[in-house]
Parts: sequence; structure tokens; C-alpha cells
Amino acid sequence: MQTRPTLQAAPGTHTRPRTPGMIQENCPICGGGSVGTVGVKDGLRVLRCANCTAQYSERAPEVSQLPEMYNRAYFHGSRTGYPAYEADESLHRARARHYLEDLTAHTASTGTLLDVGCATGFFLDEARQSGWLVRGCEVSEWAATYAQRRFGLDVVTASFPTPLLGPQRYDAVTFLNVFEQLPDPHGAEHVLRDLVVPGGILALETWDVDALVARWWGMRWHRYHPQETPVYLNRRSLTALFKPEHWTLVEYRARTKWITLAHGLHALGLAAHPTRNGGPPHHGLRERIGKVSLPYRLGDLVWAVFRRAER
Ligand SMILES: [Zn+2]
Repeated sequence: MQTRPTLQAAPGTHTRPRTPGMIQENCPICGGGSVGTVGVKDGLRVLRCANCTAQYSERAPEVSQLPEMYNRAYFHGSRTGYPAYEADESLHRARARHYLEDLTAHTASTGTLLDVGCATGFFLDEARQSGWLVRGCEVSEWAATYAQRRFGLDVVTASFPTPLLGPQRYDAVTFLNVFEQLPDPHGAEHVLRDLVVPGGILALETWDVDALVARWWGMRWHRYHPQETPVYLNRRSLTALFKPEHWTLVEYRARTKWITLAHGLHALGLAAHPTRNGGPPHHGLRERIGKVSLPYRLGDLVWAVFRRAER
């Protein structure tokens, strides 16, 4: 891989590394070198790959950091997460039904489905009701426990990829706003070759760093979180990772996503800070206004579907 761990304090000392994470000297998608710095945010440089044009943070989170990064607070008001995730259940479920419609455009029938980064399981629960045999993988212990206890879902609590998923294969694997958060996308693609059955599909909802709005806003684009998000994708970098000998890109388009006003303001950094106990900042009238949903269609959110090659 093109990453190496940062220098750690020697055993027995109390010095903590000042900036934890894996230095990404080269593009985590294709291994190419950088053509330079796109910008700096939160103390980290974002670089652009000379080869596949992906952008990437100079430092990626380590797998060991992920459980804490996606703890309960991430779903309840942390700056880069959600204002109040499960409070918007009806919206998550409506969105899930749209994903399922989009999946069935590429599948002859329902079958086995793995959702990576399944959060609280609303999508999986909807998929199960539609006839899919479902399983989840979720690094957040809080979210995985919610999905297990409330819906009785089979959720592996781990970062992806993980040997805990075992040898089972799936007709469909989904990553909904998750793939760009993986510390090792290259390793993930290798594992996905075995996880998706020949002819099966891999569906990603992710963000296109080449979208007009991303280029227009520059480092103010709301998806730049280089402390947490290691890579920023586009069509070219996705097809550089999911190569034609293993995958066929069958759909790539901008999509509309219904979000709450509270989430939109939160993502843009315009919402009030969370309460001290980590709870959502919206109360009363403000909470009701925050629940108003609106279509997000700025062109930077994309739906990419790959079909696994037949062997
Ligand atoms: Zn690259």
C-alpha cells in the first residue's frame, strides 16, 4: 500500500503523536503521485493525484481510530456528522426506498444484500421488507447495536474490509456515503471482487469532487473534512479503482437526496452547536422548522453502479 503509519511514541513514554493517522504519500486509489496541493483545511493538505485525478488528504485515519470517530456523538451533533440521525427515521426510510428502486433497475430479482456502513439499519430494514436477504457491516458500535436490538438485523461491528464477514457472497453490496471514508479503498476493492457474485452489483453513493459546486466553493466545499475523509472521488478515479477487467460501470449520475433543513444547515456549518451532552441543538419551533425536508440537488452527490465481471 501507499500508506505508512506515523511515528509512534516508544513504549513506556507518555508522548502522544500530535497528529494521528496514516501519511498518504501517494494516491490511495491508484498509487500515483500528486500534482500538488488543492488546499488546506483543518490543518491538513488536500492533494490531487496526477494519474486518476482523485483528491486525497495527506493523512488518513487509522482503522483503530474509526470506532471513536463514529461514536454516538457522530450521529447526534458532531460537526462532520448528523444533527440527530434516528430522529429523521421517516426520511431515511423514504430515501432507502429510492435506493432500492434504483438497485432493482440493475437486478433481475432480490437476493442477498450487504450494506457497508449501515448505520442504524433503516435501509436494511426497508430492503428486508422488499424481499432482500440482508446483512450489515458498521464500524460504529452505537449504530450497530441500535440496528441489532431494534430490528434484529445481522450486523457485523467492524470497519470494512473485515474477516468477520466470512466467505459469503452477495448479489448486491452498497456503500451509501461510506466508500470515501474507508482508510484503504484499494484493499476494499480487492475484497469486493470476492464479496460480489459474478454478475452482481456494487452501488456507491458518494461525492464527486469534480462537480461544479465543489470546484466553485474550493476548500469551503462542505465535503472537505481531511481529518476524517481520506479521499475525494470522481468518475475517473472510480473507474481507475474498479477496473474494467473486474467491473463494468453501468450507471453514473448525479442524484437528488431529500434531507432535513437541520441537516443541510448542519452540513454547511450554519447550525447551532450541539448541546453539552451531545444532544441535538434544535428545540421547539426551531426543531419543527429543522425537520422540514428539502431536495438536495447541487450535482455533487452521485450514484455509481458497477457490475462484477462474469468469470
Ligand atoms: Zn490516483
